[in-house]
Amino acid sequence: MIVMKFGGSSVGSREKISRCVELVVQERGRAPVVVVSACGGTTDRLLAAATAALRGKVDYGEIADFHAGLLADLGASVPEVDFLLRELGALLTGVSLTRELTDRTRDLVMSFGERISARIFAAALTAAGVEAEACDAFAIGLLTDSVHGGASPLDEAYDRIGAALAGRGRVPVVTGFLGADADGSITTLGRSGSDYSASIVAAAIGAKEVQIWTDVNGVMTCDPSLDARAENLPLLSFDEASELAYYGAEVLHPATLVPAIRRGIPVRVLNTMRPGDPGTEIVAEPVLTRRMAKSVVYKEGVNLVHLGSPRLTSAVKLLSAALDVMCRHRVGIHMATTSEATVSLVTSSGCDAARLNAAIDELSRLGRVELQTKKAIVCVVGAELVGNAAALGRIFGAISAEGIKAAMVSQSASEINVGFLVDEAEIEAAVTALHGLLLE
Ligand code: ADP
Ligand code: ASP
Ligand code: MG
Repeated sequence: MIVMKFGGSSVGSREKISRCVELVVQERGRAPVVVVSACGGTTDRLLAAATAALRGKVDYGEIADFHAGLLADLGASVPEVDFLLRELGALLTGVSLTRELTDRTRDLVMSFGERISARIFAAALTAAGVEAEACDAFAIGLLTDSVHGGASPLDEAYDRIGAALAGRGRVPVVTGFLGADADGSITTLGRSGSDYSASIVAAAIGAKEVQIWTDVNGVMTCDPSLDARAENLPLLSFDEASELAYYGAEVLHPATLVPAIRRGIPVRVLNTMRPGDPGTEIVAEPVLTRRMAKSVVYKEGVNLVHLGSPRLTSAVKLLSAALDVMCRHRVGIHMATTSEATVSLVTSSGCDAARLNAAIDELSRLGRVELQTKKAIVCVVGAELVGNAAALGRIFGAISAEGIKAAMVSQSASEINVGFLVDEAEIEAAVTALHGLLLE
């Protein structure tokens, strides 16, 4: 069996869905299990609809029209999609009446994107002569904890999914991004979480391979939308790919690889529009290139929090207290530095503003807090960096030649990444300069 995951960018139009269907038809002999994301942009639209409902305005017309248009283009009729859209309308009405949008309800609203796309994709596959059925991940055993907006699978999920998918005659089209907790509430695995779903399903069924189909030629030396010189990376180690994903390469979700790594399942990232291209193969051990590193990535929307406390005079106590506050308010941390009297933390991007504000309030009770917003992490990743002091010198040189003064620098213990904290406005200059250096 293999797992074929199609991202939102690959299922946003009739032509694209037809291409994906062709790819599944070609792999028919390898017992494919399909995992799909919501059709391009739907999750964002659902979030906007939920926020509007909270202010009293129920409008999901654009979402309904978009999916009705897709179905019309495909010449398919799927009554379940109409049913789901009506349910979405009722849910939004509920939000508008109660003026309440909990993390749990937000997950429920977002779930409609994948639930609808799985049904559309299954209908398109069946119309192409491959009998398929939509499977809601939460109905086939993807059991998670109750951390809405960023849930993790429970250990028993793997056996459950394996049992649920065994011996199915029809090709399962599984909803990415979604799970359910022990109470049966629908959860989401974090934005871009369908990659994670794909590798969970692959681990559960003991797949021979995971294919992540997207809109670029695999993982590249840099985000091609930022620097057109970006080149494909044919081979990337699990560790390098994890760092890339963690530090912002949108092409893979940060946790994507863990279930696959544990079971030694190969992962390939491929371009739906250029299926003949080799894409990127994620391998267990690093393969060194003759370049300085593999890729330059960036993460925008991070914040820098400085904390100094006259009371907690030991750095260990200060760090421990600060991390405890961040942990309780579920604010993720990307980088941290300490000195005897201060702690500086870089919070993860996309962090909920209300949670961050609550954490800052609490930190203010410990000491003096300074918050800097609109920051970004720019990071160079590659096993080539290990023990290469000259490369570090060149990287620092390239950053300072752009007139950029990094507010923080970090290198992981594994030495395969070097990250800088810069202003968001400096992303393009920093990434382009470092990418140029890398391509030399
Ligand atoms: P999907 O809809 O298939 O999940 P995503 O939008 O999540 O696709 O990821 C693909 C996008 O990731 C690309 O369009 C590209 O702009 C972006 N990206 C960022 N960094 C990289 C990188 N290093 N290599 C390839 N793509 C990258
Ligand atoms: N649809 C979800 C999102 O937009 C999950 C995914 O695309 O992987 O974040
Ligand atoms: Mg994605």
